[in-house]
Amino acid sequence: MFENLSERLGGVFDRLTKQGALSEDDVRTALREVRVALLEADVSLPVARQFVKAVEKKATGAAVTRSITPGQQVVKIVHDELIATLAGEGDPGSLRIDTPPAPILMVGLQGGGKTTTTAKLAKRLKERDKKKVLMASLDVNRPAAMEQLEILGRQIGVDTLPIVKGEDPVAIAKRAKTQAALGGYDVYMLDTAGRLSIDDELMAQVEAVRDVANPRETLLVVDGLTGQDAVHTAENFDTRIGITGVVLTRMDGDGRGGAALSMRAVTGKPIKFVGLGEKMDALETFEPDRVAGRILGMGDIVALVEKAQQTLEVEQAERMMRRFSKGQFNMNDLRMQLEQMIKMGGMGAMLQMMPGAAKMAKQMDDAGMDDKILRQQIALINSMTKKERANPALLQASRKKRIAKGSGMDVSDLNKLLKMQRQMSDMMKKMGKMGKGGMLKQAMK
Ligand code: GDP
Repeated sequence: MFENLSERLGGVFDRLTKQGALSEDDVRTALREVRVALLEADVSLPVARQFVKAVEKKATGAAVTRSITPGQQVVKIVHDELIATLAGEGDPGSLRIDTPPAPILMVGLQGGGKTTTTAKLAKRLKERDKKKVLMASLDVNRPAAMEQLEILGRQIGVDTLPIVKGEDPVAIAKRAKTQAALGGYDVYMLDTAGRLSIDDELMAQVEAVRDVANPRETLLVVDGLTGQDAVHTAENFDTRIGITGVVLTRMDGDGRGGAALSMRAVTGKPIKFVGLGEKMDALETFEPDRVAGRILGMGDIVALVEKAQQTLEVEQAERMMRRFSKGQFNMNDLRMQLEQMIKMGGMGAMLQMMPGAAKMAKQMDDAGMDDKILRQQIALINSMTKKERANPALLQASRKKRIAKGSGMDVSDLNKLLKMQRQMSDMMKKMGKMGKGGMLKQAMK
């Protein structure tokens, strides 16, 4: 599975992770190569585009720690985005088969691996889930197919519905339903007929069977080697029959893997299982995080970045707390708070975050502080020098005038800002004195 894609991406990221500081150009070039790699793996163009865009957006805003390189960070973002692209809701491989006898309808084109997969899944349900399973072939046009299921059934020790010559698919489905109820089966699986291509007669037949069986799961079995064709087939079946999931077969081959990546994004339906060979136990649940790991083959880097991110958050919080408790609340801190407030949508959230800040927050509110004012205040802080931001007491009257003018505001506005910073600083100091388990610690949570 995915060897080529994996190799291509590996090349891109090897180059990227070796570099120290990455420029935006480096990232953009790498992402262009990712896009080409995806397209070569037969991922559909809109999906590839959307994928790269999402990664670019996240890479631009990502906080980077010193312990990892920006390239490693990009690898992690690509990894997470792969999972997001592949994942559906619920547990991988979970089936709604809790009310016996639960019908599972197997649909797909001829040669996609439908009969083989029916038997593989029956074996899995029997062995892992301890279900009593009945299989029935509805492929009346191909007696060989009906016999094939019977042979497989004997091989895996799962019952098949006895073949009655001349019966039509709907009649067989009805008989399977009755037999499943009478025989105390937990699950009955209907292996419908396939065609070489989608035609109206096939669809009408499957619809009729569906209406009789009222299946809890309708699984489309489709050849993963056929790439985007597999995705189109899934779209067609879903529109006409309504599928609940997909089984991609022949993923043991040297397919390009694109079908797996596009399937969920294009059809909205999850891949539930993958077929990995002709043998009866060559069926695996489709687990997005494992697949993403296999595609990228960079598990070490992903783990490293995850660890670094956790450390970074803890370190940042601790450093801030130490400084605040000493009353060190400078303009950089204030700017961070103001930015946070904009991000969180204003005063309300700020109030909740910082007990004790209620009074000041009310003052700000009374003064009509909205996003615009917050942004103006950030502009004022940005106009200060690095030294002034760290120690606002340095600001002389002449500098105040220049800063206010430079950001299109009055000195009185700047004075208000300075007062706010002093008040915050005092407040932090007081909170710090209240001890380690005090309010500040709670506020930091
Ligand atoms: P159907 O016409 O859709 O019922 O297809 P079959 O179940 O008869 O399968 C067609 C061929 O594909 C058989 O030779 C199977 O052994 C083979 N096949 C099915 N699934 C897989 C798979 O996951 N990997 C490989 N390599 N072969 C498979």
